[in-house]
Amino acid sequence: MSTLRFNALKTSLNRAPLQNKESGRRSEIFGFNVFNETAMRQYLSKHALNAVLQAVEKGTKIDRATADHISTGMKEWAISKGATHYTHWFQPLTGATAEKHDAFFETMEAGLAIERFEGTQLVQQEPDASSFPHGGLRNTFEARGYTAWDPTSPAFVYGTTLCIPTVFVAYTGEALDYKTPLLRALQAVDNAATAVCKYFDKNVKKVTASLGWEQEYFLVDEGLARSRPDIVLTGRTLLGHSPAKGQQLDDHYFGTIPARAMAYMRDLEHECMLLGIPVKTRHNEVAPNQFELAPIYEETNLAVDHNSLLMDIMKKVAKRHYFMVLMHEKPFAGVNGSGKHNNWSLSTDTGINLLSPGKTPMSNLQFLTFFINTIKAVLTYEELLRAAIASASNDHRLGANEAPPAIISVFIGEQLTAVLKELETVTKGKLSPKEKTDLKLNVVGKIPEILLDNTDRNRTSPFAFTGNKFEFRAVGSSANCANPMIVLNSIVAKQLIDFKDEVDELIEKKSMKKDDAVFNVLREYIKASKAILFEGNGYSEEWEIEAKKRGLSNNKTTPEALKVKLSKPSIALFENLGVMNKLESEARYEIEIEEYILRIQIESRVLGDIARNHVVPTAVRYQNILIENVTGLKTIYGDMFKKLAKEQLMLIEEISDHIEAINSLVTQMIDARKLCNKQTDLSKKANDYCKKVKPFFEEIRYHCDKLELMIDDELWPLTKYRELLFTN
Ligand code: ADP
Ligand code: MG
Repeated sequence: MSTLRFNALKTSLNRAPLQNKESGRRSEIFGFNVFNETAMRQYLSKHALNAVLQAVEKGTKIDRATADHISTGMKEWAISKGATHYTHWFQPLTGATAEKHDAFFETMEAGLAIERFEGTQLVQQEPDASSFPHGGLRNTFEARGYTAWDPTSPAFVYGTTLCIPTVFVAYTGEALDYKTPLLRALQAVDNAATAVCKYFDKNVKKVTASLGWEQEYFLVDEGLARSRPDIVLTGRTLLGHSPAKGQQLDDHYFGTIPARAMAYMRDLEHECMLLGIPVKTRHNEVAPNQFELAPIYEETNLAVDHNSLLMDIMKKVAKRHYFMVLMHEKPFAGVNGSGKHNNWSLSTDTGINLLSPGKTPMSNLQFLTFFINTIKAVLTYEELLRAAIASASNDHRLGANEAPPAIISVFIGEQLTAVLKELETVTKGKLSPKEKTDLKLNVVGKIPEILLDNTDRNRTSPFAFTGNKFEFRAVGSSANCANPMIVLNSIVAKQLIDFKDEVDELIEKKSMKKDDAVFNVLREYIKASKAILFEGNGYSEEWEIEAKKRGLSNNKTTPEALKVKLSKPSIALFENLGVMNKLESEARYEIEIEEYILRIQIESRVLGDIARNHVVPTAVRYQNILIENVTGLKTIYGDMFKKLAKEQLMLIEEISDHIEAINSLVTQMIDARKLCNKQTDLSKKANDYCKKVKPFFEEIRYHCDKLELMIDDELWPLTKYRELLFTN
């Protein structure tokens, strides 16, 4: 009997939901462990508090003396929450979060000690984090990088550590993380959008990008997950036959949440509440053991931090509940993968959501301006958006007949399509008073009403307008949202800058009225944007053909998709906006392509090991049992054994065929890997891994999965899909 698998199963069946310690109202504990405004009022002087608030709102600098006051207050608050250590919490280019804890504790003379935390320690640290990927940035320049406090994301206590969100930069100024370019992109979109808002409302001084992510994940019993080397080492199953029942009956989606999973979620949400992560929605997803968690949307930088923090907490809380949480985009073949929809919108400091139609024709023209400019931005930079979500794991979703396709398109629904159609016929040049009134009353003016009953949904669209926000659905569940958010906010910023230039030119050179100019530019944008608008089935083959005709990219694999990051227009885009310089862009390409190579390499090694060390020996063992049986039949029945042992003999031969195929394929795969490893050019190496190593995965898996179906269940060492997916 296969001991590990059956022991794991036995343990998992005996597990009960954990009792929750949650008590009281959530609103009362919300942000309890966050150094938010309430906490700051209690622990900081008025002067220090104002300095922080100004830094958050206006990006003003905090002087050293004030920083000392803030750090002292922050330390006292943190100690009152049980903290003994502090850390600069940052997001290196691995996409995960990083921390290095230092104690507040310091010794003094005469054997005494105190708790100390100075302004300099709050503001800047040098974490000697030289092992993080840096894409050559730190080789060419300085070996050192430092972390610097980001006051726009509040500090928090997790466990016994005060965590201070920081950026991670090289001494030469190049960003070594995701947060720095994100903050710059958010500044760029703020500047560009505020300038455009002034056409409609002079009072607008700031535009904020919001993000609401929806995190999908799988929960698997920890013992069962740990019994599978592929899950432990790669985050997904590399083999495993589909169970007789998967998700065909749609009986999991929005169904009753299983008791153990429910206990986990409540515990997780409790932690989130304490940390000020405003989680709100939880439900079962389509696949068995798949779930989703979504918060109330927040300012993008904070939302990204919260998602990164959440992913970390999810893993920690899962351990308490004897679960392993799988964030991988495709942990199981044959059932749905996991994504992380990024809901995005822009809003003004006057309280207007720029992607939500307003009450007056003028505010609706503003809505249309931002709506159409976003569509145009997606059209121009569709390939860059695709690159922003590229990873080895997300390749299993994009371009693999699963939601959503690798082709980026925008879905806006029937009603808004009709509105755009009407706007397309706006007269060139100055508009007559009648036309303008007509437009304002009958087209622009009607938008709020039509959107009211806009229940239009298209689940196959990678980028959909959903009433008051765009939803970027192609983002992978394991991704750091910063990457897609840097791109989306940058391309919209660039587009808005261009738009303003064009409108101003019409006003100045053609002496057009502002409205006329806006209508004129939008009309041209609508005409130009047709290629990116698609309302049909994004998974269909017809769409692939149609998209090709329209000139849209269809980069199915990460090595193909990432290439655009090195193109002149992409580099110029980020450079001109001040988001990333050429070196920073190139470094990110290098890191991402290298990560791709490493992931495929690891999967290939793990698959080779499992196939040879688990599957083949088990097949041989079962074959021996069959041989013993046949020999026995021959001894007893003599010549008649051929008839009696017919099936067994066939099985013996089939098993041999599969064993032979597996061994030969694994050898070929290893040889292919060796060849790839000789390649020194990273782009070519990634391409080789994709085209020459990865194709073996499916072939090897095929034979292993066939053997799983033949071999005695008692002998099979790898926990099966039905056990991983249906035990909870
Ligand atoms: P869905 O039907 O797509 O699940 P929900 O209303 O449940 O839509 O929202 C999903 C996510 O979108 C949530 O995280 C929510 O906070 C976020 N969201 C809602 N409105 C906005 C907005 N204006 N900007 C950004 N995110 C938003
Ligand atoms: Mg959604």
